[in-house]
Amino acid sequence: MARKTESTDTDESHAENSVGEIDHRLTRRALINNFRRGEVSRDTLCDAHPELLRVARNFGRSTRVKCPICVNDQLVTVSYVFGPRLPSHGRFIATRAEVEEFDFRPERFTAYLIEVCRSCSWHHLLKTRVLGGHRKSRKSAASQ
Ligand SMILES: [Zn+2]
Repeated sequence: MARKTESTDTDESHAENSVGEIDHRLTRRALINNFRRGEVSRDTLCDAHPELLRVARNFGRSTRVKCPICVNDQLVTVSYVFGPRLPSHGRFIATRAEVEEFDFRPERFTAYLIEVCRSCSWHHLLKTRVLGGHRKSRKSAASQ
């Protein structure tokens, strides 16, 4: 297995707040605008993988947000975590508590929060968040 190089200082130019969390809402907005202007087809945007749809239908957390594409259904969110000793396609995480558990581990993980429309298969990455990696105290991170 290819071990990921540990790059602690990823200087993302995205809207990165507090603890390694990246918000992808700007990209989302741009995509939706492109769709409404007719620059992107629905087929391009609404192509969620069958497995993602299955998970979304069975375990997705409901939201109050209406699907921006079909406007028929309310979106659900699902979380996946990628990292050491997890399947290459990531691991589906059902509860927030489980996400927090990863945050206490010494290894580094990345959590993805994805919104899915169960009607038209729209899907979009909302947030990525770095979890774990707390080998020592946060203060000594610079000496790694
Ligand atoms: Zn939809």
